[in-house]
Amino acid sequence: TPPDTDSPTIFDKIIKKEIPSTVVYEDDKVLAFRDIQPQGPTHILVIPKVRDGLTGLSKAEERHIDILGRLLLTAKLVAKQEGLNDGYRVVINDGPKGCQSVYHIHVHVIGGRQMNWPPG
Ligand code: 5GP
Repeated sequence: TPPDTDSPTIFDKIIKKEIPSTVVYEDDKVLAFRDIQPQGPTHILVIPKVRDGLTGLSKAEERHIDILGRLLLTAKLVAKQEGLNDGYRVVINDGPKGCQSVYHIHVHVIGGRQMNWPPG
């Protein structure tokens, strides 16, 4: 069965602070917080505070250009904040075959260890 992408996700509760998270950056448009199941010494998720149909990258439209840019610039900002000066990995998983599990677009920033390519 295809994933239900219309319903609210756990990230709405994180945005509303109804469930706790470790926030590392926040402004009026985006929230960045530590992944609960980190895949490296640093693992941060950067999300838009308003989903606006952007369940995943595959749903991106012209109206999302500004928020998409903000997500990436925030990824760079938090990487610097984390001291990832030798590099890091930025990932957007999309859809079942991309291993997406939460249907509210999010940018993973993973670092603090040597990453490998291809990821498999
Ligand atoms: P995806 O697989 O959709 O690309 O990534 C979803 C990410 O959200 C996963 O890395 C998962 O560990 C993280 N995640 C899921 N639920 C929670 C939560 O309640 N709190 C936090 N901090 N991260 C979560």
